[in-house]
Amino acid sequence: MARSKPKGYCYLFHIHPAYKHAAHYLGWTHELAPRLNAHLTGQGARLTQVALAAGCSLTLVRIWKDVDRSFERQLKKRKNAPAQLCPSVVLQSPSTRPANSSTTSRIPDYDQHTQNH
Ligand SMILES: [Zn+2]
Repeated sequence: MARSKPKGYCYLFHIHPAYKHAAHYLGWTHELAPRLNAHLTGQGARLTQVALAAGCSLTLVRIWKDVDRSFERQLKKRKNAPAQLCPSVVLQSPSTRPANSSTTSRIPDYDQHTQNH
């Protein structure tokens, strides 16, 4: 049984408020939970680290399951990709966020992106 290249997850964080020019972080990982945890505790990427340190909140807005790293590269190549990919325009309701809800507690359905608004 030939195994294809290992697949993983592509994910998109919405940074609120935007950190300088960056309102999103797009990443890829083999293991979603530990990687998201690393981001949320300031041990992920440089961008999420400094954004958290500046008091921004990270909201996980999209997950693509079972994709390889080239998928992330394709997304990053698209102009304005994160803003186009982010559903936060409809999801955003900062004043109604429950106090104890972590940023990972609401994960959009994996298939939601196929509907695209
Ligand atoms: Zn966004």
